[in-house]
Amino acid sequence: MKRLVVLGAGTAGTMVVNKLSARLDADEWKITVVDQAKSHVYQPGFLFLPFGGYEPEEIVKPKQRFIPDGVEVVWGEIDKVDAEGNSVVMTDGTVLGYDQLVIATGTTPRPDETPGMAGDEWRKSVHEFYTYEGAQALAEALERFQGGRLVVHITEMPIKCPVAPLEFTFLADSWFTERDMRDQVEIVYVTPLDGAFTKPVASKALGGMLAERKIQLETDFMIERVDTETKAIVSFDEREVPFDLLVTVPLNMGADFIGRSGLGNDLNYVPVDKHTFQSTKYDNIFALGDAADVPTSKAGSVAHFAVDVWTENFLRHIVGLPMLGRFDGHANCFIESGGGKGMLIDFNYDTEPLPGKYPLPGIGPFSLLKETEMNHWGKLMFKWMYWNILLPGKELPLPALMSMAGKEVGSE
Ligand SMILES: Cc1cc2nc3c(=O)[nH]c(=O)nc-3n(C[C@H](O)[C@H](O)[C@H](O)COP(=O)(O)OP(=O)(O)OC[C@H]3O[C@@H](n4cnc5c(N)ncnc54)[C@H](O)[C@@H]3O)c2cc1C
Repeated sequence: MKRLVVLGAGTAGTMVVNKLSARLDADEWKITVVDQAKSHVYQPGFLFLPFGGYEPEEIVKPKQRFIPDGVEVVWGEIDKVDAEGNSVVMTDGTVLGYDQLVIATGTTPRPDETPGMAGDEWRKSVHEFYTYEGAQALAEALERFQGGRLVVHITEMPIKCPVAPLEFTFLADSWFTERDMRDQVEIVYVTPLDGAFTKPVASKALGGMLAERKIQLETDFMIERVDTETKAIVSFDEREVPFDLLVTVPLNMGADFIGRSGLGNDLNYVPVDKHTFQSTKYDNIFALGDAADVPTSKAGSVAHFAVDVWTENFLRHIVGLPMLGRFDGHANCFIESGGGKGMLIDFNYDTEPLPGKYPLPGIGPFSLLKETEMNHWGKLMFKWMYWNILLPGKELPLPALMSMAGKEVGSE
């Protein structure tokens, strides 16, 4: 019997075990998936929790429900991968041998990495919405907020769902407007980037949306510390941005065991071939989802497109054939912009977000780089698709690789 071990039963790991259990011969392959937490959280829902948008039970479900019969589940914390010995060591001492290993342990916010961030003011005036607990605590803080300076801040790139802090800012603007208190709130968006977003065309459009909403943009801000006495974030070049309520996206890092195992870069992401997800060090190790060090967004949509391409490659790889599929970095992100509208961006390693229609050229129904109500409904519909189509590994009639059809080149 050969053994495939998948580390992480989140978005990518769950899709992998569903796709492969349907395709691998059960007499030949034993599939094991490992995770430390028994609940699966729909992370895009964290954006709406602070504004009372979702009930907790809509975004948290038992992981076991999405693991197919015949796949062994090991609950526990991974301590180390012994890549030379082809085994995984759990913190309780259990050792799991493997022939092929998939690392899909995602990325985690690490407020402990920035001085002062996880200090006295943590979950009082310093908040985050990248965890379930954080998003719930922030909902209470927003209810209590009487006005003042709301600072939305990104510590360092890359972060998962890089548009989420912008979405939070747009939704906050809309929420305060609906509550008739927008004129009592000064909103500041602080980023280490040189504009509102990473890609020039999208950055210009999103920067314009911040300006329209009278949201200040503070760029090139590399945070050194949170000063909890004066209530300000301080940069390495000694700029200070004061806040009454800070909503930060802490440094995002891959799992610590990746670093301990000598498999990661300085942020514990696994260096892989960006087209095949094969580790640059070991032929029988792959990293998928946020755990992989690839130059595209860390997003569920990317994990979905990537797993589709990777599955076919993996089935060839294990019978000794060359991997032919080349993932192109395809990312597709809805951007909630408040007031019941949203935007959509579609891009890959080589093509930045462009205006146009998606997925059907000229028809849509979604509009690229434009705020529409339909895009907002697309964002909300994504939750149903996530639980019912993506996680169970069913086919979605959307091409995994990015298409130029429907994109307006040169009109931006
Ligand atoms: C606020 C927010 C909004 C978002 N919005 C969107 C969106 O609109 N669209 C979109 O496409 N994406 C969005 N995302 C991103 C998306 O949720 C992630 O990119 C996706 O879930 C990544 O999947 P993954 O499998 O790589 O990691 P995860 O789903 O995070 O899974 C990692 C798993 O590994 C396990 N694990 C980690 N370390 C260990 C260990 N040492 N031992 C055992 N188990 C371990 C964890 O318990 C977890 O189950 C959003 C994310 C956030 C935070």
